[in-house]
Amino acid sequence: MLDYLIVGSGLYGSVFANEAAKKGKKVKVIEKRDHVAGNIYTKETAGINVHQYGAHIFHTSDRAVWEYIQQFAEFNRYTNAPIANFHGEIYNLPFNMNTFNKLWGVITPDEAKQKIEEQRAVLNGKTPGNLEEQAISLVGTDIYEKLIKSYTEKQWGRACQELPAFIIKRLPVRFTYDNNYFNDIYQGIPIGGYTQIVEKLLDHPNIEVELNVDFFENRSHYEAIAEKIVYTGMIDQFFDYEYGVLEYRSLRFETEILNQENFQGNAVVNYTDGETPYTRIIEHKHFEFGTQEKTVITKEYSKEWQKGDEPYYPVNDQKNSDLYRKYFKLAQTEKNVIFGGRLGLYQYFDMHQVIKAALHAAKKELKD
Ligand code: FAD
Ligand code: UDP
Repeated sequence: MLDYLIVGSGLYGSVFANEAAKKGKKVKVIEKRDHVAGNIYTKETAGINVHQYGAHIFHTSDRAVWEYIQQFAEFNRYTNAPIANFHGEIYNLPFNMNTFNKLWGVITPDEAKQKIEEQRAVLNGKTPGNLEEQAISLVGTDIYEKLIKSYTEKQWGRACQELPAFIIKRLPVRFTYDNNYFNDIYQGIPIGGYTQIVEKLLDHPNIEVELNVDFFENRSHYEAIAEKIVYTGMIDQFFDYEYGVLEYRSLRFETEILNQENFQGNAVVNYTDGETPYTRIIEHKHFEFGTQEKTVITKEYSKEWQKGDEPYYPVNDQKNSDLYRKYFKLAQTEKNVIFGGRLGLYQYFDMHQVIKAALHAAKKELKD
């Protein structure tokens, strides 16, 4: 009999597995993909570490999490500074003095604030109730029209008026000439990619890993072989979609190897117009300051999730949040199952949050 069966070898499952194994527990990790690491998986192509499931930049202000992750990889000094391409016009992100200067010719923070204040007047003092109003309130109508509206509608497949305000609050707005996408104290990319982190987490005599197996194809067997289950798959699927199907956004990645050294001069370029069908192009070598002769790029297309697709982004609008709450209540009645990670908790978690949550759950679970 195992102590824990862990469904999913992503960051949550692997951190939990490692903590349990260190405490002498017998653990089995099952993974339906043909590799470990979940969405942080990176794979070398043409000598470049390719982020197979979208660009991943590690950032945190939590010193304990930063020290924890560095046990498994050395991090470089990469700072994310994406640019936006709107019909061939280039703007710096996140929204900062460089963006305001390019757009309006303003030089000082006061001039930029005044411009935004003028444009915010269309809201008539209303408290923002959706993403569109929140965006206009933060940066005004010009930036909303050029850099937010179409990108967001491509990304989420929904009108900005129907999306929750919090999605856009993730992005900093700064009145300094600072293109760093994140406000966190610590940031970087693991030299040599992310997969090594998960491989090291799972490299323990108490951990067995089985790839290419889906929990739901042999559920009764898996439920019988362990005292407890750590489940990091989709919460609604665990309950056989009893109350209905939670919505996700899925992605399609189109990756090409190009016979040129430098395609776009930046790791991340967002296409913020409505006509370009993809949301962004990632040029992977720039995450590690690569000097290879070739380059690898990935175009990212957003699409509505359907059963069988990979679920990437939970859609945390009102309807789905209400539905999730019902599943969450059901999950609380499952005394031998720990639900965790982006899919198990149906939340927009970054890597540092997933690590913190998994360490916390392990501490609580393994206290004696
Ligand atoms: P996952 O990585 O999804 O792992 C879950 C695993 O469970 C998967 O491998 C899946 O195959 C497996 N599984 C599911 N169901 C079953 C089943 N029935 N049987 C067996 N196995 C199953 N975070 C950042 O901090 N910085 C970033 O820049 C960043 N960028 C991102 C970009 C994109 C496009 C996406 C989608 C996410 C990004 N994230 C980023 C978030 C980051 O990917 C997550 O925080 C982290 O990977 C979540 O880990 P997890 O273990 O919860 O989930
Ligand atoms: N966003 C935008 N324009 C951009 C970049 C982001 O409007 O050029 C909005 C969009 O709604 C997106 C949200 O900001 O969903 C959060 O962006 P982030 O880059 O954090 O998204 P992620 O990397 O998680 O896809």
